[in-house]
Amino acid sequence: MRTVTILGATGVIGQLSLDVIGKYPDEFSVYALTAFQSVDRLAKSCRQFRPQYAVVNDQDAAEQLRSHPDMQGLSTTVLYGAEELVNISSSTEVDTVITGIVGGAGLEPTLAAIRAGARVMIANKEPVVMLGSILNREVQEHGATIFPVDSEHNAIFQCCTAACDQDYKPFNRIPGLRRILLTGSGGPFLTIPLDELSAVTPQRAVAHPVWNMGAKISVDSATMMNKGLEIIEARWLFNVAVEKIDVVVHPQGMIHSMVEYKDGSIIAQMASPDMRVPIANSLFWPERRESGAEGLDPTRMPQLEFMTPDWDRFPCLALAREVAGSDGTAATVMNAANEIAVDQFLNSRIRFTQISETVRHCVETIEDEPVESLQHILEVDQRTRTLAVQYAAANGC
Ligand code: NAD
Ligand code: MG
Repeated sequence: MRTVTILGATGVIGQLSLDVIGKYPDEFSVYALTAFQSVDRLAKSCRQFRPQYAVVNDQDAAEQLRSHPDMQGLSTTVLYGAEELVNISSSTEVDTVITGIVGGAGLEPTLAAIRAGARVMIANKEPVVMLGSILNREVQEHGATIFPVDSEHNAIFQCCTAACDQDYKPFNRIPGLRRILLTGSGGPFLTIPLDELSAVTPQRAVAHPVWNMGAKISVDSATMMNKGLEIIEARWLFNVAVEKIDVVVHPQGMIHSMVEYKDGSIIAQMASPDMRVPIANSLFWPERRESGAEGLDPTRMPQLEFMTPDWDRFPCLALAREVAGSDGTAATVMNAANEIAVDQFLNSRIRFTQISETVRHCVETIEDEPVESLQHILEVDQRTRTLAVQYAAANGC
């Protein structure tokens, strides 16, 4: 029996992870499920998976959860707050932690799971971007194992193991690598006239043509900041120079990334756009098990297209490419500013095109410093959020 904790269990990644785990009731026991405030959904998942712990954000949510009809008769202990989230994530009783929290809020729990030496399935990419150069050191020091769940990074991992080395592990250099081709669908605004971008609504931005995802990552896909964050994620996870990572727009979202080798071979990973594929891959690796995702029938596929990104249409991607080469705190600044800007956009306080303006303002204002410690990263993150809020308030609609 393997024990699993799911951070952000009520989100898209969390629920899909539970869907896969639920297919193997004799193989997994759920240790803890965590959520911000979605009490109904968390209670439902607790009823089904009977975890030892459930963790929510605040006392109010904890009281609602405790008195929820679905929780009656369960022995689940309900806890709340950031400290308990970290405590639960550090438990050495757990062998696998799936990180499905959105944003930098997942940083400390992710690090706690790494420090507990767990098998950590990382969907929550923002902490990877923030930790940057210190992530590998933490992983090695504590004997943790990282599995990339983000579909592109899981694809790259699969390409590496298929092409060069069955025992390939993240953070090792990829033998014989020429370049990584990081694919991205281009989101909902790939072809709309550029002068319409400033008036797009949050509803249109979150309506992704290929993937069903949480609101924040959906907006990141519309600005292609998501691909920018993924360049940085790939840089650290695969120990590769940023110059060797090329972004390829692939609107059909069926090839999830490719690795080109020095002999001219390109290995690609294909699957239907369903996150249960990378979740099951990471959960069972090196075995292959049913994920619940449909297969792809090549005879019924649409024509697959590939193109270079339009950097003018996607200023967030252009900015991220500039920041990606930094070993310092610039990525933390970019990430924090983006989180605030996306939140402000979703609440109709700034326009879509002001997301990139807010992020650029912060990146250009806050100095890129060498990363000293976790505390340093958290301090830069906070400082940036304050500046981004001020900028958005002064310039928003
Ligand atoms: P989501 O918004 O659907 O879910 C987020 C989860 O995190 C929820 O359970 C929520 O309760 C919890 N949460 C939110 N704020 C929190 C906070 N401050 N503290 C603690 N918990 C908090 O998001 P999602 O689409 O599932 O994405 C989760 C992460 O996975 C993101 O980092 C995203 O970039 C990454 N990711 C998602 C997908 C996808 O297809 N959805 C694909 C690749 C990577
Ligand atoms: Mg991705």
